[in-house]
Amino acid sequence: MSGINKILVIGAGIAGPAVCYWLKRFGFSPFLIEKSANLRKGGHALDVRGVAIDLVKRMGIYEKICNMRSQVESGRYVDAEGNILHEEKGERFCFREGEDVEITRGDLVQILIDACEDVHCHFNHLVDSIKQSDGDVEVQFKDGRIEHYDLVIGADGLHSKTRRMVFDKDEYQLTNLGAYFSVFSIPNYLNLNHTEVQCEANQKLVSITSDKNPKIAEVAFSFRVLNVLNNIRDENEQQRFLRDIYQNFGWETSKILELMSGSHDFYFDSVTQVKMKSWTKGRVALLGDAGFSPSPISGQGNNLALVGAYILAGELKQAGGNYQQAFNRYNELLHPFVEANQKLGVLVNESYLVQNEVSKEIAEERSNKIMEKVKIVSNMISLLDYE
Ligand SMILES: Cc1cc2nc3c(=O)[nH]c(=O)nc-3n(C[C@H](O)[C@H](O)[C@H](O)COP(=O)(O)OP(=O)(O)OC[C@H]3O[C@@H](n4cnc5c(N)ncnc54)[C@H](O)[C@@H]3O)c2cc1C
Repeated sequence: MSGINKILVIGAGIAGPAVCYWLKRFGFSPFLIEKSANLRKGGHALDVRGVAIDLVKRMGIYEKICNMRSQVESGRYVDAEGNILHEEKGERFCFREGEDVEITRGDLVQILIDACEDVHCHFNHLVDSIKQSDGDVEVQFKDGRIEHYDLVIGADGLHSKTRRMVFDKDEYQLTNLGAYFSVFSIPNYLNLNHTEVQCEANQKLVSITSDKNPKIAEVAFSFRVLNVLNNIRDENEQQRFLRDIYQNFGWETSKILELMSGSHDFYFDSVTQVKMKSWTKGRVALLGDAGFSPSPISGQGNNLALVGAYILAGELKQAGGNYQQAFNRYNELLHPFVEANQKLGVLVNESYLVQNEVSKEIAEERSNKIMEKVKIVSNMISLLDYE
């Protein structure tokens, strides 16, 4: 592959395995590393939708995703006393239609890793430094090993270390949309059956869902507050913060917070978007949340990662080794799609976390508005055929 072959991919979430799949298929040799000891399978259900459906079909994994899809049949809004305010069918509640398919993040990560069968994922691997020269990239790992690569792709999520190591502070902007998001699992003590129940008031939302596994329930918190955490990466502080914010919220919240400390897959983050004029610098490219997080509240992070992975690998193939040309095209083709999806993230953020309890009218009006927008932005890019 004319000069470009050995490519280091950092991060085994959605974007990392997806780009490895396409790089391998297009004749490159990707090396995938992940900082955790195992795949990080936490997270809520995600929708694969729009042009990303076409991609997962081309990857041969659409059937598999459908077979493992989540099967939430109804969504219920309740008040602080647990009275039902409104109920919707699962499809509408989750903004799905047509061939869109919802799957838990962990299942999608596993399917993507399985799809790149001949790319081994090296766990417990951390990069210490990245030095670029005209000829290659020198990467020093935490264990002291030094390796040389033709290119490096940082797919290491919202808090990307690759971004911090390679890009100057004025080359990226992290925009906190003023909210926080947390997901974890607890026992299904409410005996929910393929149902999601949501309580939303005073700019706070808590939902609990039980789907395929009747023993487990997934909890999600999202809320808007002005106070901030001293150390947003400290799990004890994150859990303290949640307990403070949600004290006296009502419904099942106290019980859920009690069960939180026993959860093994606790995830917490701010609702943040990453904005950059260019996702590439020299021989390094950023992909997925690392370069263009639209925030979890947009529901589009996985779809941007899947589409970006295909375009990045495809343009590298198309450019026949001229990586600068491929990187320019990657930036040019993907920017409008990312920007439209980030605008959707802002719209969803503004539509949720309302001051008052969610009436039937508010729920229906915002579902209609968001569904209409989601359909447009998830389809607003035409994918080239790089085969
Ligand atoms: C545990 C978890 C739960 C999530 N839950 C949700 C959710 O419920 N809803 C939602 O919309 N979005 C969620 N997200 C974010 C969502 O996965 C992304 O928005 C989207 O899928 C894009 O994926 P990504 O691969 O770019 O980033 P991510 O899915 O965040 O994956 C990044 C990967 O890189 C790894 N990594 C990080 N730093 C390094 C490093 N220095 N070296 C090597 N590896 C590194 C991480 O461990 C992770 O495996 C979650 C992310 C994680 C990690």
